[in-house]
Amino acid sequence: MLMLELSKEDLEKLIELQKIDSQIIKLERKLEEIPQEIQRLEEVSRTRRRKIEHIDFQIEELAQRRKQLEEIINEGYKQIEEAKKKKVKAKSLEDYKEAIKLKAEAEKKIINATKEIENLIKALNALFKERERMEESIREFEKKIEKKKREISKTEQALKRKLEELGDYRKQLISEISPEVVEFYEEKKYEFGGNVFVTAQNKICSGCLMQIPSAQYSKLLKGEGLVHCPNCGRILYILK
Ligand SMILES: [Zn+2]
Repeated sequence: MLMLELSKEDLEKLIELQKIDSQIIKLERKLEEIPQEIQRLEEVSRTRRRKIEHIDFQIEELAQRRKQLEEIINEGYKQIEEAKKKKVKAKSLEDYKEAIKLKAEAEKKIINATKEIENLIKALNALFKERERMEESIREFEKKIEKKKREISKTEQALKRKLEELGDYRKQLISEISPEVVEFYEEKKYEFGGNVFVTAQNKICSGCLMQIPSAQYSKLLKGEGLVHCPNCGRILYILK
């Protein structure tokens, strides 16, 4: 399976290289998640702002209705005045009754509109309070976002520094291993999803979780050359 013979030293360095590579992958993933985390926070903030827009829309609607009602009340008073005049000028019982009816209608309109305005004012006050609460919660949330963003930015910088350090360490390690061995590792890395060298504790291959046959295991214990897992082909080693 493997044409290459690895020295114990090379093997140890490759295992170290593999550890570094897996750390690099994890850090790179974390770095990729950072913009998404910020986007998520900003989306929550936008949703809250949209709620305020909705409240403003409701307030505007109620305010318009209030104007209409006030006009209705004004008209009602005018109608009452007209009805009074008609009553005075009434020449027949019918005219008189008509004037009384007109006045009663106008009064009813005024009463209904006034009631509606009362309810409307209550609703408006509730909306203003809700708006205030929402504004307050947005202010607090945005403070939190700013704080979180600063933290995230620090984390990002730390991750980038760590990645640089690991990159340097990686380069140094590679310089200490022969190029053909590195090439072998790089090739196998893709084949085995990053895990070329896996531990064989308790006779189990940690790459594929299958049991290792006794022959291979005793070879491994004796430290005689490279031992592959007969199932997945990864290179086995024992933690000492
Ligand atoms: Zn295996």
